[in-house]
Amino acid sequence: MRIILLGPPGAGKGTQAKILVEAYGIPQLSTGDILRSAIAQKTPMGLAAKEIMDRGDLVPDEVVNGIVSERLDAEDCKPGFVLDGFPRTIPQAEALDAMLEEKGMELDGVVEITADPDVLVDRIVNRARETAAASGGAARADDNVEVVRNRLNVYRELTEPLVGYYKAKGLVKSVDGMQSVEEVTAAIRRVLHN
Ligand code: AMP
Repeated sequence: MRIILLGPPGAGKGTQAKILVEAYGIPQLSTGDILRSAIAQKTPMGLAAKEIMDRGDLVPDEVVNGIVSERLDAEDCKPGFVLDGFPRTIPQAEALDAMLEEKGMELDGVVEITADPDVLVDRIVNRARETAAASGGAARADDNVEVVRNRLNVYRELTEPLVGYYKAKGLVKSVDGMQSVEEVTAAIRRVLHN
């Protein structure tokens, strides 16, 4: 199963990706997680990405394309993968098409998780507070109100056009993300098996 999860920040992509990982025994490929881990390890890529991510902007396409291309070659991606947070721009989607073709892989579907933009800012900021309280650590640097608003604008401008891009390929399956986690999971399973 090769799936892309598409949707605005806070729609629940990460949560659903983890559930799909369990259900299908495939890895979650989150470019955000890979970049955060590069920041934690202070690699040159992490150091270059940190400021951009803290603002809620997108790191350059070449950087994430390289991460994904390398990751797709790993043994654990043979049975499939869930892409979470990639692609985020049309050029990234075109690069992914080229990569998949070169590797002889085909997408099974692009699951669009829709959400009401008005509730997303609250959702993300509350999630950040809860995570920070639970871990006793700091919230994600890009989870404050101003940055979240920027992330949503960036989504609308650069990422939302991907819905049309993949609709033209007949791959989009939309799911209402404003339900409980369990209901969203059930809806995803339904659309993937139809
Ligand atoms: P996420 O964890 O998916 O919300 O990503 C957090 C941040 O990482 C984003 O706001 C971007 O700055 C960066 N990022 C993650 N994935 C991508 C991508 N595919 N293209 C560009 N920037 C990305």
